[in-house]
Amino acid sequence: MTQWVQQDARFVKWEVDEGIHAIFTTRQGGVSAPPFHSLNLSFNVKDSSTAVTENRYRAMGILGRTVGELVMAEQIHGRGVGWAEIADASRGAFSANDALPEWDGLLTRHSDIVLGMGFADCVPIFLAVPTRHIVGILHAGWRGTIKGVQVNAMALLREQGIEPKEIRVGIGPSIGPCCYEVDDAVATQFSKKLGSQSVLVPSRDGHYLLDLWEANREQLVRAGVLETNIDISRLCTACHEDRFFSYRRDQGRCGRMGGFICMSR
Ligand SMILES: [Zn+2]
Repeated sequence: MTQWVQQDARFVKWEVDEGIHAIFTTRQGGVSAPPFHSLNLSFNVKDSSTAVTENRYRAMGILGRTVGELVMAEQIHGRGVGWAEIADASRGAFSANDALPEWDGLLTRHSDIVLGMGFADCVPIFLAVPTRHIVGILHAGWRGTIKGVQVNAMALLREQGIEPKEIRVGIGPSIGPCCYEVDDAVATQFSKKLGSQSVLVPSRDGHYLLDLWEANREQLVRAGVLETNIDISRLCTACHEDRFFSYRRDQGRCGRMGGFICMSR
């Protein structure tokens, strides 16, 4: 059985297959000063780059890997997904400047690289196809969720002959339906996209609580992923200030957690 577990203050782990290692870091165990205390993994938030690099070594150490094996994408809240190759190793790892441009999703067949992305409320979606030796990670905030980054990833996998029923999905910690209030304009886009109000609960006047976990789950199921193959951690980043950064709660002044996935060599 696959599941999300926490055995260590520094990360939660998606247990999916013994050959696949997927973690989502917390904010604990790093060297950054406030407001990035302490395990900030992003170069894009005005933190010390020396601290971020040290933090990245610590995060990769959890997986028994090094920063030179890491591949990261630019993350522009779009729907772009692509394949990372061995030659991409270290892109985006020591600086944001050479990250794989424009993508919000990475897939790979290579066990010599580690896929990574930064998060602070947006939804991390981990993908695994153990029988085909493929892993992936997606970044889905409300824009990426609407634009269909998850459906785009399914299309890329189908092109390779992979059926959606073979794909396992882990939806990690992000802002939950308890804390994610959006206005009417955003809510309307979701009800149009999904054809129902299933992911929205009215809050104060003209506002709704939005369930991004469910919005992504619904689109993945419509794309053919089996419900039993989707694991949602149900951990809200905004609710747990001690464990997670939250862009919404911290009013934009915070670090980023990392989602990382790789395969055993
Ligand atoms: Zn919450």
